[in-house]
Amino acid sequence: MKRLSAIAFGLLCVTAGEVFAQLRVVTTSTDLASIAKEIGGAKVFVESLTAGNTDLHYVQARPDYIVKLNKADLFVSIGLELEAGWVPLLLQQSRNSNIRYGARGYCIAFAGIELLEKPTGEVNRQMGDIHPFGNPHYWADPINGIAIAKNIKESLVKIDPAGREIYEKNFNSFKNEVLKKTKELLSLMAPHRGKEVVVYHTEFVYLLRRFGLVQGMMIEELPGVAPSPAHAKKVIEYIREKKVPAILVSPWSNVRYAQKIAKESGATLLVLPIQTASVPEATTYINMIEVSVRMLHKGLSQ
Ligand SMILES: [Zn+2]
Repeated sequence: MKRLSAIAFGLLCVTAGEVFAQLRVVTTSTDLASIAKEIGGAKVFVESLTAGNTDLHYVQARPDYIVKLNKADLFVSIGLELEAGWVPLLLQQSRNSNIRYGARGYCIAFAGIELLEKPTGEVNRQMGDIHPFGNPHYWADPINGIAIAKNIKESLVKIDPAGREIYEKNFNSFKNEVLKKTKELLSLMAPHRGKEVVVYHTEFVYLLRRFGLVQGMMIEELPGVAPSPAHAKKVIEYIREKKVPAILVSPWSNVRYAQKIAKESGATLLVLPIQTASVPEATTYINMIEVSVRMLHKGLSQ
């Protein structure tokens, strides 16, 4: 009995010790969380503020987000104003100077990524819910996933220099895995290069570019603005005229509306997961990319 409790006590200490030593990483999205887990491994405890099936443009902040941010050692967000409606206030309310903008614990995930759709000239409300620094949906390109991983790795090294070797090793294996998977998917997608697709929202542009596809018309009249019947008619005519094979939507877009347009125009509707854990099969970032690309391939092969 005595021995048993000694063992139990020992186990408890090990567990408590490990938990204590873990860095707390808080991310805004499941993709960033998945990548942070790959890089941090057992040295980190990672939590995403949102679930996979979330429209990250519009998130209702909850009080527990502030609690999580208050205890965080590292905060990773997508940035580029994608989360502008909910993150800045939360950071302020978290009263955690370690993760304020510019601090060691604030990771700029998009550093080093070539951003697409940067608006030229003046940006105003008439242009819709436009992102003034460029399209923020950059994680949809797996090669950008490597850049995100590198940025997270560098932040972790800054906070925990003793862990450098582990973070470097984890980064290299993640990078190799992504490169291998991307190569495989590129050859799968080779027959579709140059094909044009219609999208609901401009959130697939990085994915499309990586796999050699072209983003045609958008169902949204302007980013974040629901389409008018006149615009929907134009999209249908466009699809028919150019024989566009597919319409891409994310699960949180107006799928029913896109379905109607698909039906009337004859295009195939593809609901791509595009975020980790938005569908059960997309358990990790790499799985999510694979599920999305294979779905795209299948839809374009019809
Ligand atoms: Zn967007």
